[in-house]
Amino acid sequence: MKQEQSFKLFEKAKTLMPGGVNSPVRAFRSVGGNPVFMKSGKGSRITDEDNNEYIDFCCSWGPLILGHTHAAIENAIIETVKHGTSFGAPTALENKLAALIIDNHSYIEKIRFVSSGTEAVMSALRLARGVTGKSKIIKFEGCYHGHVDALLVKAGSGLVTFGESSSAGVPAAYANETIVLPLNNVELVKETLEKLHHEIAAIIIEPIPANNGLLLQSHKFLAHLRALCTQYNVLLIFDEVISGFRVGFEGAAGLYKIKPDIITFGKIIGGGMPVGAYGANADIMSHISPEGPVYQAGTLSGNPVAMAAGVAQLSECLKPHFYQELQQMTDRLVNGIRKHIKEKGYDITIYNIGSIFWFAFSDMTHLTRADQIDSGKMTLFSKIYHHLLDNGIYFGPSGYEVGFVSKAHTEKDIDKTIQVMNAAFDAVMG
Ligand SMILES: *Cc1c(COP(=O)(O)O)cnc(C)c1O
Repeated sequence: MKQEQSFKLFEKAKTLMPGGVNSPVRAFRSVGGNPVFMKSGKGSRITDEDNNEYIDFCCSWGPLILGHTHAAIENAIIETVKHGTSFGAPTALENKLAALIIDNHSYIEKIRFVSSGTEAVMSALRLARGVTGKSKIIKFEGCYHGHVDALLVKAGSGLVTFGESSSAGVPAAYANETIVLPLNNVELVKETLEKLHHEIAAIIIEPIPANNGLLLQSHKFLAHLRALCTQYNVLLIFDEVISGFRVGFEGAAGLYKIKPDIITFGKIIGGGMPVGAYGANADIMSHISPEGPVYQAGTLSGNPVAMAAGVAQLSECLKPHFYQELQQMTDRLVNGIRKHIKEKGYDITIYNIGSIFWFAFSDMTHLTRADQIDSGKMTLFSKIYHHLLDNGIYFGPSGYEVGFVSKAHTEKDIDKTIQVMNAAFDAVMG
């Protein structure tokens, strides 16, 4: 496949931006080769600068649950833009998106809009600290919460471990405020809370961890987190930046019927525009400025163009059978691949929930922790990745990234993808 233009653009980009990109995984370092520069998208398809077309399962890392340039979103953006792009004053569109979410979500009474998932998480942590008057946070190895200082940490050594920063530039004092535990281990959470609950403000988790493979947690584990948080006066934060509006309108909280204290959103909420949000009950949210003492602000927060895109997208998600149909399309894909893998006896396992899917190079039938992923096998992913790319299938360029099916994917797209993916497995594993 000819990718001359992408190559040229990347050479130039490297002289302009660190690594040639504005977000690291886009640089293709983990799969090797040259990143593909995209020019346009329509429905399930995207077209690169050399006019190659791909069926897209990255979907901008999740936000595009309706696919590219969906008519309702496109119209909403264009109509809104005609009246101005930003006012820094309240607009009716903020009420509209807030009400649309609150009216259809059991666990949220008030919401605050920000401009990214990272900002939502950062603000939620401050809120939790402000409400509880405590400062430490528990997070889990294998969950990603954006590039917030205190969460760019990995487990240190020892049983109950304080974090070590995983990025240069994060003060040790910040990393020390974070305790990193393995996923799906109730005992360790219990021990840690027994010992340190006087210092712990919140437990933050991706209830459906989908940033380091897809590490589905047991309902029991999540329910225990809820009970322990209540017992020890610690707030439970569900980071639903991926799972929110993805596995159902009420996200993982609704799917598992577990009520977190604070929920963070991003990705789908903005209809492809930069929006994040955090929400909780009215009492917790009353701690936020100007009602309460926890300061949080944003020049472009609640931006009308972004709000309009969010309203358009979430209105589609609320239509009858939206999530069932999305799930059926995803099942078609997953079943088509699973059948082939089983017939050939490859050591690959497909994980999926709702319209999120991921394949692991392992025959373990239930991966729940980050350390169970075999990083040595990621060279296989790179080979498969390039086979898929050369045959018109676009995934996020890393074996740790999940794929997303959108409402725009058709049975024809899915059947072609099954065929190309199975051929890729044969070429690399056979
Ligand atoms: C993507 C993501 C974030 C960060 O959101 P950005 O908009 O990239 O800042 C935070 N948490 C989770 C679970 C995410 O998937």
